[in-house]
Amino acid sequence: MSRVTVIGSGFAALTAVRKLRKADADLGIDLVAPRAELVYYPGTIWIPTGKRQPEDLIVPLEGFFRRMRVDHHATRATGLSDDGRTLRTESGEIRNDGLVIACGGQFLRKLPGIEHSILPCGGPEEIVRLRDRLHALESGSIAFGFAGNPAEPSAMRGGPVFEFLFGIDTWLRKQGRRERFTLHFFSPAEKPGQRLGGKAVDRLLGEMGKRDIRTHLGQKPRRFGEGVVETEAESFAADLILFMPGMTGNDWFDDTPLPRSDGGMIRADEHCRVDGFDRVYVAGDAGSFPGPDWMPKQAHMADLQAEAAARNLLAELGGRPGTATFRSELMCIVDLYDRGILVTRTERGNRVLPPLRAMHWAKRLFEWKYLRPYR
Ligand SMILES: Cc1cc2nc3c(=O)[nH]c(=O)nc-3n(C[C@H](O)[C@H](O)[C@H](O)COP(=O)(O)OP(=O)(O)OC[C@H]3O[C@@H](n4cnc5c(N)ncnc54)[C@H](O)[C@@H]3O)c2cc1C
Repeated sequence: MSRVTVIGSGFAALTAVRKLRKADADLGIDLVAPRAELVYYPGTIWIPTGKRQPEDLIVPLEGFFRRMRVDHHATRATGLSDDGRTLRTESGEIRNDGLVIACGGQFLRKLPGIEHSILPCGGPEEIVRLRDRLHALESGSIAFGFAGNPAEPSAMRGGPVFEFLFGIDTWLRKQGRRERFTLHFFSPAEKPGQRLGGKAVDRLLGEMGKRDIRTHLGQKPRRFGEGVVETEAESFAADLILFMPGMTGNDWFDDTPLPRSDGGMIRADEHCRVDGFDRVYVAGDAGSFPGPDWMPKQAHMADLQAEAAARNLLAELGGRPGTATFRSELMCIVDLYDRGILVTRTERGNRVLPPLRAMHWAKRLFEWKYLRPYR
């Protein structure tokens, strides 16, 4: 019987587990992740305005692991030896016949004064801090921004920042308090969110104009201080700063021989196979893949890559070549609190719908449906 190790318990890791188990009832599956839980990040945009509580979005996985007959090792990967056949962890070594790396990305925290900001990539607990500070403010100024990794333009996550911005704007309006606040949006890009496509950027910037949100575009953030955002062009007051930094590869990748992209991710081919390694695959935010320059780092992409990785690994374990590929597809609903803008992008085209109530409800329904198999 072959044994496979999956690293992570996020979107890519759990999709890989489901595909592996569905295709092979006898496969041994070791899963290495610090906690037996899935964090559903897309729903965390609703924590500041009270539509979601952290416990709605942190899904315990003990039952899922039992059903999938997964051996969970509650520890962290720290390195890799023997051409990928031995994973080193904080709790010892785990041998494998095949490996799927799905441990997500890591965020760059180098910006001076970053401790003065709230990082929404930090998960539900960090966003609760934002909620509590937001609810304590009677009036003031709130800044929202994101930046990228200059070495890897795709390692950027701007979509959720638009959602926090518009969600909080709408929420303040519904409470009749919006005029007591100044909202700022800052980005190093002149056209922030370009990977969503030009039409989407125009719509998002148009929405900011309509809502009297002050924009600071094409300005790199230089530092944050107590109550202040400094960009290379100006500085402005902010009682609350929400900032999504660019992404890079995880620290533990340094203790592996795996090939890396300029931005620090694990380099893979169109089959999600790590360049130069047998039966070692990567899926999701941890990887750098060939494809269009707008290929997003999104949960949906992570799922598509995990499916291809699982199929190819099983083929290789069976002595066949792994030929499955994944399609590049951007699929998101930018939520505005009570409406949503659907944006899709594929090799065939880019579609943006106007803000619709139905799309807000579609995003909520999708969350329920997506999490059902794990509950
Ligand atoms: C606020 C926010 C909103 C978002 N909204 C959307 C959205 O609407 N739609 C969308 O498609 N995407 C969205 N995303 C992006 C999406 O969440 C990510 O692209 C997705 O989580 C990537 O999945 P992943 O499996 O690669 O990594 P993750 O989901 O980050 O999972 C990584 C897993 O690896 C584990 N891990 C980390 N280090 C180690 C280690 N050393 N050893 C073992 N395990 C480790 C972690 O504990 C975790 O279980 C959003 C992200 C954020 C932050």
